[in-house]
Amino acid sequence: MLWVGTSWKMNGTIDFAREYAWRLMAADASQWEGIQAFIIPPATALDAVRGVLGDNGPILLGAQNAHWEDSGAWTGEVSVPQVADAGAQMVEVGHSERRQHFGDSDEVVNLKVRAIIGHGLRPVLCIGEPAEVFEAGRSIEYITAQADSALQGVDPSSVILAYEPIWAIGEHGREPRRSDLVRAFAALGERYSSDVTAVVYGGSVNAGNAADLLTIPGVEGLFVGRAAWRVPGYLEILRIASRSLRA
Ligand code: PEP
Repeated sequence: MLWVGTSWKMNGTIDFAREYAWRLMAADASQWEGIQAFIIPPATALDAVRGVLGDNGPILLGAQNAHWEDSGAWTGEVSVPQVADAGAQMVEVGHSERRQHFGDSDEVVNLKVRAIIGHGLRPVLCIGEPAEVFEAGRSIEYITAQADSALQGVDPSSVILAYEPIWAIGEHGREPRRSDLVRAFAALGERYSSDVTAVVYGGSVNAGNAADLLTIPGVEGLFVGRAAWRVPGYLEILRIASRSLRA
């Protein structure tokens, strides 16, 4: 099985999210046979999206962040039990934007991973190196250090490990060539594949490159941003992923 999901960052209203979920649920799921789909809307839309997807539906629901404490004097934060209460089954953690703008250090990421797993949710653990580390040929040591630190003291079996090179993600990202990723995925596969649920790739994934990315040994799914922020874009990538299983 491949895991193919999308996180919307700080985009979308509740109405948008509900409509997105309705359209996904209305689509013929046989198009993405063999794929575990998941969507990660903003926290404000979790409950509404859960109302459409259901608690045991074919599409999993995730939150983009959660604090490591269950409750308390942490103004502005939401906890793992709170996002679970709103319907989240997964929680994204360690995204480079959180690390860069919100001080999510390796230590914080580990605390969050522990809390997510401790509450029975599934972490979508993002790791990724900046351009200068990639250019210096040090990607593997950088990302394995991030992953090892994040996974310290936990049973990693429920983790979706998302390799998202910082130079490849978002509007300013450079679309990777297959050759940019092969060595990293060989290393990640060897080190983590048998311990975690899946090792997936994220960063400028689109309908044009998804099939090629899925041929990289060790890639067990895709984590998609912009190209899946509209339902047709996400459905197209789900179909491509499903076809790749039969190729
Ligand atoms: C991301 O920011 O994590 C991401 C994968 O985005 P995009 O697909 O838009 O590069």
